[in-house]
Amino acid sequence: MKLMSVNAGSSSLKFKLYNMPSEEVICVGIFERIGQSIGKFEIEYDGKEIERDVEFKDHSVAVSYLLDSLIDEGIVKSLEEITGVGHRVVHGGEKFSASIKIDDKVIAAIEEVSELAPLHNPANLVGIHAFSKALPHASQVAIFDTAFHQTMSPETYIYAVPYEWYQKYGVRKYGFHGTSHKYVSLKAAELEGKNPNDINVIVCHLGNGASICAVKGGKSINTTMGLTPLAGIPMGTRSGNIDPAIIEFITTKENKSVKEVTDLLNKKSGFLGVSGISSDNRDLEDAVAKGSVRAQLAMDIQDKKIADIVASYFVYMGGCDVLAFTAGLGENSDRMRASICNRLSALGVKVDLERNNIRRKTTLISADDSNIAVYLIPTDEEIMLARDTFELV
Ligand code: ADP
Repeated sequence: MKLMSVNAGSSSLKFKLYNMPSEEVICVGIFERIGQSIGKFEIEYDGKEIERDVEFKDHSVAVSYLLDSLIDEGIVKSLEEITGVGHRVVHGGEKFSASIKIDDKVIAAIEEVSELAPLHNPANLVGIHAFSKALPHASQVAIFDTAFHQTMSPETYIYAVPYEWYQKYGVRKYGFHGTSHKYVSLKAAELEGKNPNDINVIVCHLGNGASICAVKGGKSINTTMGLTPLAGIPMGTRSGNIDPAIIEFITTKENKSVKEVTDLLNKKSGFLGVSGISSDNRDLEDAVAKGSVRAQLAMDIQDKKIADIVASYFVYMGGCDVLAFTAGLGENSDRMRASICNRLSALGVKVDLERNNIRRKTTLISADDSNIAVYLIPTDEEIMLARDTFELV
């Protein structure tokens, strides 16, 4: 059975076509700059790579182009072969605690929670509409970033603010990156030879966007992102948690609106804000090598906050078997993994520097006498979309 996983952003669309249940990847690719004068289409299949500059007016045009290309390149003989499409949807609010086949009711519910993710959900919906139109015979499935965290308890997800804000507007912690946290925690159980129900895992998903999740017996019991992906640990350009009074203070000092200050917290803070150099970890590492004190400080602040969270989750979970690092930084930065583990030595975490000298490969990086097994586990959100779609189709 051929199934497509789709991640539609406001001007991009990533896709991967699988043969299921073997999980063989048939092709993978991306559209970029949709809606701009020159867009880009890339696809890889059968050891070949195609890259073209083409104008795509909107997502529907891009999806038609993709489906024509699949036929023209002989990747599929007929579009009927694609029996399901799994769509990443960022926000499912409280309505969705699992993936679901898409119908008009589901679309209405995704629209309803769009105000909680105004940059993401509308773009995800555009992808859903484009594929529903182009492949009317195929089942469309929604996989939510928030769903995995619906197992958190009220003491974890309710903010200590007027309760009516939750009742009237749904103000609570939702958490994101759920698909990645689920994949990595399941993989950690597999690597340890344990049933997911019998293992406690802390997953550090550290990319430009970053969050940490406590997974106890296969269930998310806490995570760092909140109502929005701005909350939690500092990130590439996002501040993470700060004293909320800073917002009003800066609006007054700099004569800015709340929206402008929130924008600065989303786009000009984190690594970028503290270093004044870049949001990208590689640039900061280069700057540190040249003596930049603020680049070092930006990294230290993030490492410290991550270690603080891991330590508190360790206690809250009643101990933890595996600490797992994933995403751009987690998979590539041995410096960062070592720095976090060293800050956790009081818990008996010991990293093996030789094992840790590795990139993007599933590896045990802790020393044999470490209290907690530490792994690098490359994430694979697309395969989770394909697996859930397979189950529901
Ligand atoms: P996103 O949240 O946008 O998906 P990624 O998961 O791609 O982010 O992570 C991007 C981060 O990973 C950047 O800070 C980048 O510098 C870092 N990164 C990627 N490759 C490397 C590398 N080889 N060494 C160190 N850091 C890396």
